[in-house]
Amino acid sequence: MEESPAAPQTAHDDGLGEGVDALHERLRRDILEGRLAPGTSLSQVQLGQQHGVSRTKLREAMRMLVDEGLIELRPRGARVADVSGADLDEIYAQRLMMESLALRRSAPRLSPDDVAELEGLLAQMAHFERVGDYARWDRPHRAFHALLVTHSGPRTRTVLAQLDDHAMRYRTLFHASTDARSAADAEHRAILDAVIAQDTDAVVGAVVRHLARNLMDIVRQVEPGYEPVTMAGALEQLLGDAALPTRAG
Ligand SMILES: [Zn+2]
Repeated sequence: MEESPAAPQTAHDDGLGEGVDALHERLRRDILEGRLAPGTSLSQVQLGQQHGVSRTKLREAMRMLVDEGLIELRPRGARVADVSGADLDEIYAQRLMMESLALRRSAPRLSPDDVAELEGLLAQMAHFERVGDYARWDRPHRAFHALLVTHSGPRTRTVLAQLDDHAMRYRTLFHASTDARSAADAEHRAILDAVIAQDTDAVVGAVVRHLARNLMDIVRQVEPGYEPVTMAGALEQLLGDAALPTRAG
């Protein structure tokens, strides 16, 4: 959600290589942005040479990625975690719960300046959509969702940013359908209209349904036939309605 601070430019010629945090961030980005595909075997020797770092630093960075569920340790070595319907379901169920909590706190605190910025981000998204530049569309899109929850607590924002990163991995690997994109336009407008009307229940409902529909669009591509039961439970808790959106519209 929030832009991660740029990894510090670490000198490679100091004989030490980059620090663990920078290495972790670089590998994390490679996985989240799809350069390291799901299931790719990770050789410590090869990665160590490629990044010019010691085995100790590499092991530490990889341990952090294991904790975050992005790397799996198998008897025959480490590999990039697979994508699955169940994983996506869990990510989105958590997002729904956490977004709802965050929006209830943040939406009533959005200022006129925030609203103007949200309008500007929608205009940027409309522009990039007109020219078909979906790589650039993603930046104002993430900024839009991040700004909606900006007045929640710092811990909430951190958890949401991490969940959004994980969802981004799926969005990068599996592109949204055309139907889903046009549905998203109307949904973003409805979210902002609810903010302007200062109707927090409507904001929460609109965001939660928007996320649920996103999940339904992606899960069909990740694992056709998978029933996102975890997210359905979250929807029921939040809206008293377990009906999942059935199509991207
Ligand atoms: Zn959105």
